[in-house]
Amino acid sequence: MGLGSDGGLLVPERIPSLERNIRDLSGASYSELAFEIFKPYIDDIAERDLRQIVDKSYSNFSDSKVTPLVQVGEDYVLELFHGPTLAFKDIALQFLGNVFEHILNQQNTFLNVLGATSGDTGSAAIAGLKGKKNINVFIMFPEGKTSSVQEKQMTTVMDSNIHSIAIDGSFDDCQSLLKEVFRDVSFKEDLKLGAVNSVNWARVLAQTVYYFSIYIQLGMPRAFQVAVPTGNFGNIFSAYVAKQMGLPIERLILATNQNDILHRFFETGLYRRNKVCFTSSPAMDIQVASNFERYIFYVYQSRIDKFKRFINSFESSGSAKIDLSDLPSNNDGFVTSSVSDMETIKRIRLTYERTGYILDPHTAVGLDAGLRKRNNEIPLVTLATAHPAKFPSLLEEALPEAQVSHPIIESLEGLPTRKSHIKNDSSALKEFIETIGH
Ligand SMILES: *Cc1c(COP(=O)(O)O)cnc(C)c1O
Repeated sequence: MGLGSDGGLLVPERIPSLERNIRDLSGASYSELAFEIFKPYIDDIAERDLRQIVDKSYSNFSDSKVTPLVQVGEDYVLELFHGPTLAFKDIALQFLGNVFEHILNQQNTFLNVLGATSGDTGSAAIAGLKGKKNINVFIMFPEGKTSSVQEKQMTTVMDSNIHSIAIDGSFDDCQSLLKEVFRDVSFKEDLKLGAVNSVNWARVLAQTVYYFSIYIQLGMPRAFQVAVPTGNFGNIFSAYVAKQMGLPIERLILATNQNDILHRFFETGLYRRNKVCFTSSPAMDIQVASNFERYIFYVYQSRIDKFKRFINSFESSGSAKIDLSDLPSNNDGFVTSSVSDMETIKRIRLTYERTGYILDPHTAVGLDAGLRKRNNEIPLVTLATAHPAKFPSLLEEALPEAQVSHPIIESLEGLPTRKSHIKNDSSALKEFIETIGH
């Protein structure tokens, strides 16, 4: 379930602590760790089934550790890009696909998933849902406006339940179409339309696991800090949840590109929408961070009136303000920094020259902010959210001398592709879903 029936986001009534002592999990595999972390949240999937779902979800990763921690210079990078589409979204969407399949099977029903993508989410959702029983997937992307790698990652998937739809329009057009179709309540109910966007709670939960994995791979230090390249506030919100579960993450370094609404919020208390600017870290070109509302909810806790005022003000005017005195004294450990395209390219170059390690542009934003905002006394871990080979033109500009490739991307070359074209019109889209959907 993406949204609650009143249009708000779902949160657990309370954030539980781990049932087992984290120290007992030092030798655990990624799947065992995930199982222990999910267990206190999930009471409607039998333990045996949950174990199988988790094992299956993380067997598709090319590294046996799933999210290996790598030392880069004095610091660390957590590689989140060993899944089928080479971006961190695989970690949640592989799990979500198997959870959906399990629940639909149990309830003997079906789902038509509709999504809009500017690139990464669409391919990760397709990789997570392809071949699943009782699910059809319709992913819209703006024709000609995603990178050729991203388009191939979607259109080379031949499973019969996958439908990549090129829309004759922009990404905003795709999102408007999505909203329009979801607003048609009877269509939504008849066709059992569902979403896989980043506000889905199961995605947030799946992402908390790798923060525990950092702690174990670092040898369980007294405290550590993470630098997280941020767009929709999903990844770093998972860090916040892990911290509330008892993990000693002292600083949550929130890295944005020039789309710095979150940076400005933590500096001034003012949350105000600007125009989106297009940067070299496109997965973070977001102004309204969908998961942020969840954090504001925890900040206000029982002061529900204030919370509602904040949300309503933002919805109606694109701007809302929190009293800085309402934020916890150390901002719950959040510190922020906004990184320009120039600084991103410079960080890719410097890191390569000093260590030989190649960063993707999103990870470079994270590391740059991390180095600025770190506490020097404790380890710094930057989350690597994509493999650099996904961004060949920027890497060519930043590091013309380096060879950046990945066998998964090379293997897409020359594969047959399949996509449908639909004009920017919601009745055409509905007709398409109706004829193909269950
Ligand atoms: C989605 C994405 C991000 C942003 O993550 P959020 O959870 O939206 O903050 C960062 N980097 C890459 C490569 C992504 O695909």
